[in-house]
Amino acid sequence: MNIVTLVENTAGRVGVLAEWGLSILVDVDGLKVLLDTGQSTSVVHNASVLGIDLSIIDKIVLSHGHFDHTGGLRQLLSAMRKQVEIIAHPDIWDAKYVQRPGEKSHSYIGIPFQKDELESLGASFTLTNEPLWISDNIVTTGEIPMLTDYEKIDANLYVKREGAFRPDPLRDDMALVIKTDRGLVIVAGCAHRGIINTLRHAQKLAGVETIDTVVGGTHLFRAAEDQIELTIAELKGFGIQRLGASHCTGFRASVRLAEEFGDVFFPNNTGTHLQLP
Ligand SMILES: [Zn+2]
Ligand SMILES: [Zn+2]
Repeated sequence: MNIVTLVENTAGRVGVLAEWGLSILVDVDGLKVLLDTGQSTSVVHNASVLGIDLSIIDKIVLSHGHFDHTGGLRQLLSAMRKQVEIIAHPDIWDAKYVQRPGEKSHSYIGIPFQKDELESLGASFTLTNEPLWISDNIVTTGEIPMLTDYEKIDANLYVKREGAFRPDPLRDDMALVIKTDRGLVIVAGCAHRGIINTLRHAQKLAGVETIDTVVGGTHLFRAAEDQIELTIAELKGFGIQRLGASHCTGFRASVRLAEEFGDVFFPNNTGTHLQLP
């Protein structure tokens, strides 16, 4: 199995571009599945620098409807030049906003395109809140139940409905789960509903306890100190062999993860290529 990070906030190789966003290509079971598309043009640029032909992508999965995971869709679909299935939760099309502390108004952070434009470029959407098996070993989490008492949805995030801003439950948040002989490989977008909730749900869904590898975002960058510490304490119990957290993990949580996990932790940035046996 190969996992290549096409877009992340920082650049880890010569020639690739970094932007606030995420896009990770998973090559397993003869299938090439792209989780997310970054924020804008870097996914297409970086694929070319890394020697990846985008037309080989079989399916796209969107981890949620924020712009930094979906904003590359227009360029990507134009470059792919074919029909492609896009798997996501129906709520990706909610009108998503952020209002950070001290800001006077809400800013739009949802998908920066209309659905029909993307369809005219070849997108064929499969929208479901249920887990979806892409092959015998690859499944999307579908909606992730929030079961831990310390993992909270970022309170700065909103949806606009009938003119009113309400807290965004981020029901659309999901991850990719891959079954391997060594245990589960989890590829997360932002883990808005909690990385521990995501891992527990993946174990249940796949019927596998061992979690071998976790890559992607953990959305700890605005989390309270106690959420970070409780998350780390519980993460340590999974016996993870590779922990490539980045994107919305943030500096503070990354430092703590590096301290606690030693060589198991690595900042999974643009250009990172993981080859798993
Ligand atoms: Zn997000
Ligand atoms: Zn994000």
